[in-house]
Amino acid sequence: MLKPGDRIGILGGGQLGRMLALAAARLGLDCHIYAPEADSPAFTVSAASTIADYRDEAALAAFAGDVDAITYEFENVPVETVRFLEGLKPVRPGSKALEVAQDRLEEKRLARRLGAMTADFEEITSLRTLRDLVGGVFGVPAVLKTTRLGYDGKGQAKITRAGEVEEAFAVLGGRTGILESFVRFDREISVIATRGHDGAFAAFDVTENEHRSHILHRSVVPARIGAKAAAEAVSIARRIAEALDYVGTFAVEFFLIDDAAGGQVIVNEIAPRVHNSGHWTMDGAFTCQFEQHIRAVAGWPLGDPARLGVVEMINLIGEDAAGWREILGDGRAHLHLYGKAEIRAGRKMGHVNRILG
Ligand code: AMP
Repeated sequence: MLKPGDRIGILGGGQLGRMLALAAARLGLDCHIYAPEADSPAFTVSAASTIADYRDEAALAAFAGDVDAITYEFENVPVETVRFLEGLKPVRPGSKALEVAQDRLEEKRLARRLGAMTADFEEITSLRTLRDLVGGVFGVPAVLKTTRLGYDGKGQAKITRAGEVEEAFAVLGGRTGILESFVRFDREISVIATRGHDGAFAAFDVTENEHRSHILHRSVVPARIGAKAAAEAVSIARRIAEALDYVGTFAVEFFLIDDAAGGQVIVNEIAPRVHNSGHWTMDGAFTCQFEQHIRAVAGWPLGDPARLGVVEMINLIGEDAAGWREILGDGRAHLHLYGKAEIRAGRKMGHVNRILG
């Protein structure tokens, strides 16, 4: 168990690392950020930083020597990096969670094993298999994705007719793919939850998410979902966390299909980290997702995740951030900016939380 004054190492220096470091600071814990990019937003709010490649073992060892526990803020950290660090200091969550969450096939296999629904899926390693599946039992519409390293809709293509197979296959760029049946969902939702070092489990209320151009635009809680479907989504998240022996905050993204029984939830993705759709918790819950994560990593008891009202989070993407003055004009808007020097199209620059009622 860590004590105030101890230091947490964070792999990754983006806005999630920055908000984790801010939450840690509030609890009297220092952070050391390890990231390859010199202009990482988390550096400016942390006690120490290392700029080095994730495969630089000398730099990793020095980093481990400076901290009391280690975590990560994005899922594309190489698994070998986490395994190497696990030999030196406690890493929470560990390499097992990372391994599963980095691979869309493993993720869906796990969800199915735990009794959750997913889209139908098949592994794709050749154009021929893809053509046979699309023209045969699998049919269209379907979505082809790289199994690894995809985010915000990158590395994926929708296939609506057999003639699109070749073009879609090219998106894989020689990498293994996963072909998924296209889910005709009504809404997208997510469960953000935290599992403590002692196995305690605390989930935030189910969040409803709206994407624009494959990037999260708006989250709102409570989601429009029946009580039974919401309980099932939380139960699936809990089963996933227990199967992975997970410690920390994580997200499970679902598709929701409305039905007379209050809805069906279909697992799409697992994120082994704090998540954009949980940013509303910073101002809309008794304990936010970042503090919950830090508490779990430190081996401390979790806080109460209960919601403070109807809460909305809007992402500030690219030029949206130029509107910061107007947002400040609403004295009840909670503005969060990530300290990124340059506005770029599609770049997450900040977000705004509002308690609507
Ligand atoms: P992902 O990278 O898997 O989160 O996918 C990005 C977005 O593409 C999702 O949020 C959905 O809006 C859409 N999408 C992905 N997979 C499917 C699917 N199997 N069926 C329908 N829509 C999908």
